[in-house]
Amino acid sequence: MSAILHYSTKTLSLNTGAKIPQVGLGTWQSKDNDAYKSVVAALKDGYRHIDTAAIYGNEDQVGQAIKDSGVPREEIFVTTKLWCTQHHEPAKALDQSLKRLGLEYIDLYLMHWPVRLDPNYVKDGNVLSVPTKADGSRPVDITNWNFIKTWELMQELPKTNKVKAVGVSNFSINNLKDLLASPGNQLTPAANQVELHPLLPQNELIDFCKSKGIMVEAYSPLGSTNAPLLKEPVVLEIAKKNNVQPGHVVISWHAQRGYVVLPKSVNPDRIKTNRKVFTLSDEDFEAINNISKEKGEKRVVHPDWSPFEAFK
Ligand code: NDP
Repeated sequence: MSAILHYSTKTLSLNTGAKIPQVGLGTWQSKDNDAYKSVVAALKDGYRHIDTAAIYGNEDQVGQAIKDSGVPREEIFVTTKLWCTQHHEPAKALDQSLKRLGLEYIDLYLMHWPVRLDPNYVKDGNVLSVPTKADGSRPVDITNWNFIKTWELMQELPKTNKVKAVGVSNFSINNLKDLLASPGNQLTPAANQVELHPLLPQNELIDFCKSKGIMVEAYSPLGSTNAPLLKEPVVLEIAKKNNVQPGHVVISWHAQRGYVVLPKSVNPDRIKTNRKVFTLSDEDFEAINNISKEKGEKRVVHPDWSPFEAFK
């Protein structure tokens, strides 16, 4: 029997009171004209949530696409992220992102990683890069800096009205506990954007964030580049049984779990597919939950500057 698909228009509430559309368009690895075209296509298709980052190198194109889409700015939820080399200057970095995007405010500004990379090692002054030391290692700065200092600066940003909410990304439960317990902390992050998919279901982190009022956002929801999770036999079987595409199955599983999900695509048909959801039966939902129990968990995004702590 065919499942009944519908376009997701659901919004969830942040701890600021703002509404965030549950399904947003990811833009990592969306370059140049592809980034522009995918954002225009998504907004014309009904997406109202776009996720970018300073380090993606596409804020210019994303901002231009938002303008050209004709969709009023206030109807779109825009997220961008503070890069690791700018942890000591989030106010300046935010101004730079706003300039590239051509926007007056960001809806959500995230600390991209809980790690500062020493900007003294960047080449040609390009802070939007991943610096390397002469020995090939990353200049992770743990002597002079930590993410609590970064957060103390970030929590001031909403007062400027240049950003409506601030949050974090790639934070473990321990990272969040440290941040929340720090004496200078005055603001609970609005969101924690983390890798999350059937092979990395993050159940404990989701429960912890829920208990603290922090919205979870799932990145790499399809398993990242080339969407490997859409080839999982269990996913293919459920898609066939319900007469839908594998993408519908995985996005619907995420949506049913009640957090934000950020599939990336530069392909107009896939962009459409990824916002369509249906209600999975208890049996199908459980079968997807069981994938990681049977195969073991797998993390796809683990750059060499990540502290082990970030993954606990
Ligand atoms: P996704 O899990 O969204 O997968 C993207 C890949 O799947 C692309 O290769 C895409 O190709 C393909 N794809 C998308 N939809 C379909 C479909 N329906 N059928 C078949 N293939 C499909 O990976 P990402 O790692 O990009 O994660 C999503 C977003 O999360 C990012 O774009 C970014 O915004 C955010 N992110 C944040 C991180 C962080 O550190 N905070 C880290 C990583 C991601 P194509 O484009 O050709 O369709």
